[in-house]
Amino acid sequence: MATIGILGGGQLARMLVLAGTPLGQRFRVVDSAADACAAQIAPLLQADWNDFAALEPFAAESDVVTFDFENVPAATAEWMAARTRVFPNPVALSTAQDRLAEKTLFGRIGLDTPTFAAVDSREDLERAVAATGLPAVLKTRRFGYDGKGQYVLRAPGDLDAAWQALGGVPLILEAFVPFEREVSVVAVRSRSGEFRHYPLTRNWHASGILSASLAPLRGEEALEARAVAHARRLAEHLDYVGVFALELFVHGERLLGNEMAPRVHNSGHWTIEGTACSQFENHVRAILGLPLGDTHALGHSVMLNWIGTLPDAGPVLREPRAHWHDYGKSPRAGRKVGHATICGDDPHELADRLERIGAALDRADQVAPAVAALRSGSP
Ligand code: AMP
Repeated sequence: MATIGILGGGQLARMLVLAGTPLGQRFRVVDSAADACAAQIAPLLQADWNDFAALEPFAAESDVVTFDFENVPAATAEWMAARTRVFPNPVALSTAQDRLAEKTLFGRIGLDTPTFAAVDSREDLERAVAATGLPAVLKTRRFGYDGKGQYVLRAPGDLDAAWQALGGVPLILEAFVPFEREVSVVAVRSRSGEFRHYPLTRNWHASGILSASLAPLRGEEALEARAVAHARRLAEHLDYVGVFALELFVHGERLLGNEMAPRVHNSGHWTIEGTACSQFENHVRAILGLPLGDTHALGHSVMLNWIGTLPDAGPVLREPRAHWHDYGKSPRAGRKVGHATICGDDPHELADRLERIGAALDRADQVAPAVAALRSGSP
């Protein structure tokens, strides 16, 4: 049995603990919040990321340390790596933390990106807009997630407001991509270099936060092969160990890299019930150096995120092959408090289940895109 230390005690840590416990592993989590939801099922060290004295015993008792939270300071990851094994490695983590470094790396491995430019001053912003054109998206280079730290510029008059909203920290400006679809590849690479990927997943966002995911995308084998080749090159380039997600825009024939998440990812939650070996179990396997598990889809799956508050569980629990996840968090606007994954052998059978759930929960809008994709036969 190994002791796995997780930096961050949110729902990702919680699902890692739930997946790794049957493998006989022991878990510890660190979080600055006393009510971190993973602490309901694993011992919590309540500490700040830069409190190295408090982290010392945690490092000493952890055989392996990993992340639930991608914005752990690079200094903390490096400090940990000097004391115990840390996966993914601190360089991979810090590359993925910085949108500029990340997009620069995408270019180096041959993955196209939206046109982008670094913005550190108001003059930079003018120059960057001249390069990208409008509309464009101004983003903080670091600490952005779920659409936070972003401003969409539509007209030259928006520059002042955007600069006022975000200026003062390192920024990146990206051309706005009028994509047809957003997709992600969740993949895993083990300590021995074994690489596997889950089926390409289609994602829908609302207000910058993931709303629904659908997998697999039948008939999209060529697109999947291109996306997976990029994910593999990225993992090999970074000597990455563990699960990660590569988020991509599909625009015409173009596949554009948006971002990489150096951890298990929300668009891979469906793998808990939709595959034989979930992203969470495969992350644990990878960081322990165990053989990786089967990543193939078992039929079709749709994941629905519950943001802010949990709806009534009844309509989900009453459906066959529908699975309810309550993260044990208190409600708060914009907070991920749970999700449901609904599976089916047949796309229409799954669409029927989603429509019943959407109607009963008054969430027809949330299920509609996945239902349409399933019914169209080419999601
Ligand atoms: P991000 O935090 O970068 O993943 O952005 C959150 C969401 O905003 C993405 O999933 C997209 O829906 C949208 N978005 C981000 N960047 C762009 C872009 N350059 N063009 C169009 N939409 C974008």
